[in-house]
Amino acid sequence: MPDLPTPESPDKDSPAHKPLAELLTNCVHCGLCLDVCPTYKLTGDENNSPRGRLRLWRKEEEGILENDPLVEHYTSECVSCLACEPACPANVPYGTILETVRHEQMQAGRARPKWFLKLAARLVHAPQAFQWLSLPGRMLRRLGLLKHPFMFPGQPAAWQSTSAYARQLMRERQPTGPHVALLTGCLMEGMFRELNFATVRVLIANNVQVTVPESQGCCGAFPEHLGLANLESLQGRNQAAFGAEKFDAVLSSSSGCGLALSKTLAGRVPVIDVLQFLSQLDLKPRPIRDERARLYVDLPCHLIHGQRVAGIPESILNATGYRWELAPLATECCGSGGTYNLQKPENSRQILARKAAFLETAEGEPVILGTSNHVCMMQWYSARTLGIVSRPFEVRHIIQLLDESVTRVV
Ligand code: SF4
Ligand code: SF4
Repeated sequence: MPDLPTPESPDKDSPAHKPLAELLTNCVHCGLCLDVCPTYKLTGDENNSPRGRLRLWRKEEEGILENDPLVEHYTSECVSCLACEPACPANVPYGTILETVRHEQMQAGRARPKWFLKLAARLVHAPQAFQWLSLPGRMLRRLGLLKHPFMFPGQPAAWQSTSAYARQLMRERQPTGPHVALLTGCLMEGMFRELNFATVRVLIANNVQVTVPESQGCCGAFPEHLGLANLESLQGRNQAAFGAEKFDAVLSSSSGCGLALSKTLAGRVPVIDVLQFLSQLDLKPRPIRDERARLYVDLPCHLIHGQRVAGIPESILNATGYRWELAPLATECCGSGGTYNLQKPENSRQILARKAAFLETAEGEPVILGTSNHVCMMQWYSARTLGIVSRPFEVRHIIQLLDESVTRVV
């Protein structure tokens, strides 16, 4: 049995329970967060830095500024990468403050997300409808006919859900090890289901019992990112879905979704990134399968800054069977930021371009960009389709590489 963390109790002293005015006073204006902030690096504008945004929000809170459009503008410019949190010596809970401010601006009608994002945020409250509505997209993608800059190629099952697939594989393989539940995610299950299938295969091949609760719903990250309310119903649904059985852990293969769900399930069951969980099992290094290929590993912000995980474990990367190295700037944001690449495409592309520049001359045939978050995969893929990088390269989730290397079963 892997050494799993005890679920943290919901902390009454956590920032989420403190008034905004109090949280904003924590910043001592030292500026140590500036160098890690992608929007500050991009613009050199103090208002586009964590310190600048905190100052603007504090001025509004103290009534020095009132409904100033500049405040909305600079709030919307933030990628939500959370890189400023671990950089801060005063432990300013930037993420919690940002969520609160976004929510207040939305309530006051000051923030205006694009219509299709608002529609999608409503749809996540009806997961079955969401999955049915995404069926045509899933089928087109499976047939290779879905041409969109963010739609990396893949072969998702059109009809079979991850839940049904896990039941089938559990019957066939009958694993006896730790019992986990899997968070499938709205967009992952709707469009990129092959990543969930790969996760199930790798876990079961490693003797892990996998349940995918059918009644689970959106983790809440998407509407929360837009500042929308009504997260309680989503949280209640997931507390019931993941509390219906005794699980050793709930696993996620998307760091943003895992981070949101960990808040919902605090004090109930640990929520762990699937690669971290797998690193506690005895995965052996694999022989190199292609001497010429090279895997460059990128680290999702919500994994390293949000979940505060050191990175993707070496044992996992060694088990992919590729020669690998960390991508240059691996700990910096790629500019995807949940919905940031849809809301602020120009900024997002510039942030990506800086990070992706190395690919032009990177060694390897093929060159593979590996990460562990589907939203980052979409962003990296757009570097190809939008011409940010001119040479071909593949974009893969590390769980897919493990699947090919470790299981080779289905
Ligand atoms: S979350 Fe990221 S983009 Fe926003 S202020 Fe912090 S470092 Fe900058
Ligand atoms: S590092 Fe922390 S205390 Fe210093 S300016 Fe940034 S948010 Fe404020």
